[in-house]
Amino acid sequence: MCTPGNGIDEASIAAPTSDKGALGPAADPTLVADLVTANRILFNQGVLDAFGHISVRHDKDPSRFLCARNMAPGLVTADDIVEFGVDGEPVNARGRAVYLERFIHSEIFRARPDVMSVVHSHSMAVIPFGLVKGFSFRAVTHMGSFIGTCAPVFEIRDVVGEDNDLLISSPKLGAALAQCLGEGTVVLMRGHGSTAVGNSLKQAVFRAVYTEQNARVLSEALRIGPVTGLSEGETRTATRTIDGQSGRAWDLWKLRAEGKV
Ligand code: MN
Repeated sequence: MCTPGNGIDEASIAAPTSDKGALGPAADPTLVADLVTANRILFNQGVLDAFGHISVRHDKDPSRFLCARNMAPGLVTADDIVEFGVDGEPVNARGRAVYLERFIHSEIFRARPDVMSVVHSHSMAVIPFGLVKGFSFRAVTHMGSFIGTCAPVFEIRDVVGEDNDLLISSPKLGAALAQCLGEGTVVLMRGHGSTAVGNSLKQAVFRAVYTEQNARVLSEALRIGPVTGLSEGETRTATRTIDGQSGRAWDLWKLRAEGKV
């Protein structure tokens, strides 16, 4: 029997927005500007649509992070950037709605001091790889080498059972997702999307874009025949080499998002 659900989604619920804690020292305006650019790039590159979000750790207080208010990433401006505390609650939302899934960011920042930026996406090509049991999403291109040989898949039912809305809408779910990510670079979320992390805003953007591209290549290859993925050694070495090149991608993608190239 098929029973229609109640259709609850991120668009239909406004998150609670009461501010908690005092506003600390202002973040570097360059960091805020780069976060705005990152939002525009990820929309322009087709990684985020009306949904999904990117955050960056606060440069003056590593227990805090910055993220846009609840809105489409392609429309974000500096005025839309909100500061969040370690608990994932806003400090200066001033009544504006914030993302329901902000706990993805707060709990990954808490669990991973090395992570400076987090991208949560519903990009289409990645989602199938979180659905098929016994198949590992892995790096098959040198640009996707950071993915490694087996990306973890988060199963929300393991945490809150079958009666869930698939959203990471509590610190408990965020912590479980962070645990599933472990020391990895990207975690798939069954029936939902994926989350990529980086040691900088630019690296996180780069990884989110190439997670999607690696998924497209892998899907195409699987239509043709058995696939040879990168070896563990190849993923390690290629990641090291390509990390030094990510600034080139950022510069191009920024101009493209601005309509200049
Ligand atoms: Mn989501």
